[in-house]
Amino acid sequence: MANHKKTNCSFCGRSKNEVGMLLSGIEGHICNNCLQQGYEVVKEELGSSNLKAAASGQQFDLVKPKDLKAYLDQYVIGQEEAKKHLSVAVYNHYKRLMQPAHEDDVKIEKSNILMVGETGTGKTYLARTLAQKLQVPFCIADATVITEAGYVGEDVETILTRLLQAANYDVAKAECGIVFIDEIDKIARKSDNPSITRDVSGEGVQQALLKLLEGSIVNVPPQGGRKHPDQKMIAVNTENILFICGGAFDGIGRHIAKRLNARPIGFSGDDSFHKSFEQDQIMKYVSAQDLKSFGLIPELLGRLPVITYLNPLDSKALLSILTEPKNALVKQYEKLFEMEGVKLSFSEEALRYLVEQAMQFKLGARGLRSIMEAIMNDAMYEIPSQENLKEFHVDLAYAKAKFERTVFHQIDFVA
Ligand code: ADP
Repeated sequence: MANHKKTNCSFCGRSKNEVGMLLSGIEGHICNNCLQQGYEVVKEELGSSNLKAAASGQQFDLVKPKDLKAYLDQYVIGQEEAKKHLSVAVYNHYKRLMQPAHEDDVKIEKSNILMVGETGTGKTYLARTLAQKLQVPFCIADATVITEAGYVGEDVETILTRLLQAANYDVAKAECGIVFIDEIDKIARKSDNPSITRDVSGEGVQQALLKLLEGSIVNVPPQGGRKHPDQKMIAVNTENILFICGGAFDGIGRHIAKRLNARPIGFSGDDSFHKSFEQDQIMKYVSAQDLKSFGLIPELLGRLPVITYLNPLDSKALLSILTEPKNALVKQYEKLFEMEGVKLSFSEEALRYLVEQAMQFKLGARGLRSIMEAIMNDAMYEIPSQENLKEFHVDLAYAKAKFERTVFHQIDFVA
């Protein structure tokens, strides 16, 4: 029997003499016939779900929009609209990349995205989570550090330096990548009227961004920083790079409300509608027109055809964020304590207290982490030296006592 295992195919049982070739693995062998059959089965199975790139030579395991959203759901609470828009845009981005170069006249255009939402609502987090699932290079850039060429700050091309780095300087790969540009609202035009003085960190940067977003060949300094005459540049074609921009657009609610109120028909007689946009729901009506009033130039908006919004996070959402996502904050601290052999638990009131504090700071989910740290720091200091401790419970009194002692508590935070 042992001998049979050694010299026969583990799948069809034929001996070495009956087949052309026998390949050995750790536990057995496979003959060339079984290998061929296996290959056919795999090809057939994958062929139906995988679109293949013909002329473009690109091939991806396409993650369908619903599956991509389901993945995001594991980490990001709420923000349904934004998740859907992102999932569809990324899926289409892949399809676009896989479209044979000269297939027919229909050329799929890319749909760069603009995400509008208060700070700490998950814009960057969504982008980062998406990046974990992507098979293309991905980078995050900050619009605030960019200035118009020739001024103090970074040139717009340095955004692509990051992408090149993410692609290990494989230019072809980088040219299929995705770039998230954060704080796009901070480069809004300073006033609606074009001013006489130059606006080097606002409109000037928007103009500079245009050439990146619309698709052109851009000379990128491989190490970033200022362009230097002696530095060898890398030419990157941005035609297939997907851009996702995000910004808080503080105060854009006023522009939306103004526009909606000015509408002569449809909404004017509807009291409930007027009431609702007093509240947090107004963001969902955001349009290119409001963003233009805010200070984005029409040319830039024209290159960001998909506009989506993120809702402000209420206390219910913050509570879910604390406990539900795959790497929720509470789960992370439980893990830290578990590594000390201690079972950590929180009372419902303690968690609610934490959320209340975060709501006061108006930092969205961003505040949760610092508040949690302030509450847990003493325990994390003491517990590693307490050998016999098996359980640690954080109740309201403990959370309150620890938090009220911190400097954090003294600060009157205004985001
Ligand atoms: P911003 O909208 O300002 O880009 P971030 O995405 O940086 O906000 O959010 C800060 C942190 O808050 C994230 O790292 C994440 O841990 C948490 N967070 C924010 N929004 C959510 C959300 N909707 N679901 C889960 N966690 C979130």
